[in-house]
Parts: sequence; structure tokens; C-alpha cells
Amino acid sequence: MHRQPLPFCRISTHLHFGGPYLKTPKPKGDIKAMKNPVTILQHDAPVIEELLLEEVPPGEIQRFLLHLVTDGMGLPVFIPIIIARGMEDGPVVGLTAAVHGNELNGIPVIQRLFREVRPRELRGTLVGVPVVNIPSLLRKRRRFIDGTDLNHIMPGKPDGNVSQVYAYRIVNWIVNKFDYLIDLHTASFGRVNSYYIRADMSAPETRKMALLQNAQIIVHNPPSDGTLRGAADALGIHAITLEVGNPNTFQKGLIRSGLTGIHNLLNDLKMTDAEFEAPESPAVTCRHSYWLYTDTGGILTVYPSVAQMVKAGEVVATLRNIFGDLIREYTAPEDGIVIGKSVSPINQTGGRILHLGILERNDGMME
Ligand SMILES: [Zn+2]
Repeated sequence: MHRQPLPFCRISTHLHFGGPYLKTPKPKGDIKAMKNPVTILQHDAPVIEELLLEEVPPGEIQRFLLHLVTDGMGLPVFIPIIIARGMEDGPVVGLTAAVHGNELNGIPVIQRLFREVRPRELRGTLVGVPVVNIPSLLRKRRRFIDGTDLNHIMPGKPDGNVSQVYAYRIVNWIVNKFDYLIDLHTASFGRVNSYYIRADMSAPETRKMALLQNAQIIVHNPPSDGTLRGAADALGIHAITLEVGNPNTFQKGLIRSGLTGIHNLLNDLKMTDAEFEAPESPAVTCRHSYWLYTDTGGILTVYPSVAQMVKAGEVVATLRNIFGDLIREYTAPEDGIVIGKSVSPINQTGGRILHLGILERNDGMME
């Protein structure tokens, strides 16, 4: 990775506001100066310009703000990063959340994981990135500031437009330090999800990662182009996507489930000696999945719950016109399980109805 030399040190013990960046002019007359920005920060995480995992002392947890890009005010956009470095060498497991800025359940999963982990009893290194898409988190939006879906353009371009360069630096400055990646998402606005995993179930390592998560559903999904999971896979990083419930909210039960699965993985990788927690019921594994869409506009009601099995021919949704007359009944085209569904009644032609998972064949073979 080629980086321009920087005018200041890689890891600073204090923030650089008012430091090498600029000389703060003294206020004239009676004007009282604002407090130095350093004193209004809520934490003491140092600013870094490069992520160097080996500089964290063994047996410690440290937090950093990585200066990823600079906004239109000339102010840095910081990515918060938490690192737990074990006493012994081992794999680097990375967790990322909020690649889509309104998908929040992954944030407390990462926060709590670092509260629970004991770095003095850890082998290897754990890296948490509670928010990837900072500008969109602040705007409560899925997409990046230029309207791009960051999870469709990974690994970005080093000299590209605003979203491409942001994506490039996420992948090449942070994610390429990992051996394993769990990328935490939720459903999109207007939809709800089961707790499910997207993983390449034909690759033994990602299959194992997926099975350890105690999810309701696992969907076989080869790492597709443009996703963070796909970009990680192209770098030789074993990666899965966790879809943890619904957008714009924190869901306690699912947050706990996500944590349990991550602990199971750390245990399986011999990074911790925690007790393995088996799922209450095994995950339903799907060989593929697809969305059903409305063929005309109207007011949609979707009947089955998430994680519910449906039979071929079963009515799964109805569509009514604005006077309340029934105009369509939608049926399941084949047997399957409801991975996610729409909860947004007003739909134009092509509105999403439900995300149907088609179960793995008995021989366990994927397509
Ligand atoms: Zn997402």
C-alpha cells in the first residue's frame, strides 16, 4: 500500500486540533475564546493516520480515531476503531458495522463485545469498526452522500470520486489487516429481516463461520462483486455478512444473538476459551434466495412472519386499490422460508413483497 508521507506522527497521544494544523489566533478585546475542541471531546481516543495493529501492546484494548477523509469544511472524518490485542499471536478478526448508515444493530454488538473480551486471555487480535459509513450514519441514511450504495462499489478506487475513495480507504487501510471479517447489517428501510447470514457455503472456512453464528437462517451467497464481503474475499479474507434484524433501531435480543455467534467464532479459532453456546434450534440453510415483487401498484399486506416456512401456492400477500378492493393475491412460487419482508404498505409496480429462501437439498450440496 502506497501512502503519501504525512506531516505528523502516525499515532499521536493528543488530538491535533490547534496543533500542527494551524496556529490559533488569540481572541481580541473582550471576546472569549471557545474552549479548545480537545476539551469538549467525550473520549480520549487518539487520532491516527494509519492503522498499525502491532503497535497496540499485548494484553490491552485501545481505541483510535482513524482520519479517513476530509470533509468540505476541511475537517477530518474519523473512523472509530477498537483494538483488543491478545497476549499470544493468533488470527486477526475484524468486525464492521453501519456500512449502510441506517443499519444500527451492529454498533452495540461491537461495543458489547469489547466490554466482554479479556485481552489478557486472548490469542490474536480483535478489531472493531462500529461505524464504517460516518456521513450516512449522521444523516440516518442507507446510502453515501453522493447517493451511492457503498456496499455495491467495494473495493472502490484510490483516486476515484467521493464514495469510491472512501470505499477504497475502508478496504485498503482497515479491512486488509484482517484474516476474518464479520460485516454487520440489518434490513433496509420499510422492511424487516430474520437474523440471518449471507456466506459462501461452498467454502469450508466461511461455511464454518456461518454455522457458528446460531442464526435463524443461512443463505448461500457467493461473495458478489461490490460488497465489502466480496472485496474482503478477493483479498483472501474469510468473510460473512450478518443481517441482524431491522433498520434504525437497537433490538436487544438480536444484539445478544449476534454477540453469541461472534464469541463462538473466537472460541472455535482458539482465540478465547469461552464456552461454546449451541443454538436453540439449528439454522435453516438455503441454497439460494430471491425477492418476490408486485406486478402492479397498490396497498400491500404481507402475511407470513420472518423465519416462517411457506408452501408452494400459499397466499403470502394481498394488494388492494385505494378504495380497499382486493386486486391481487400473491402466492409462494415454491416451498421456502421467509428471510425478510416488506412492512411498507404503499407500493408502486415492482414493490418488494418478501425475500424467499429456498432450502438446501438433503445432500447438503449448494448450486
Ligand atoms: Zn446493509
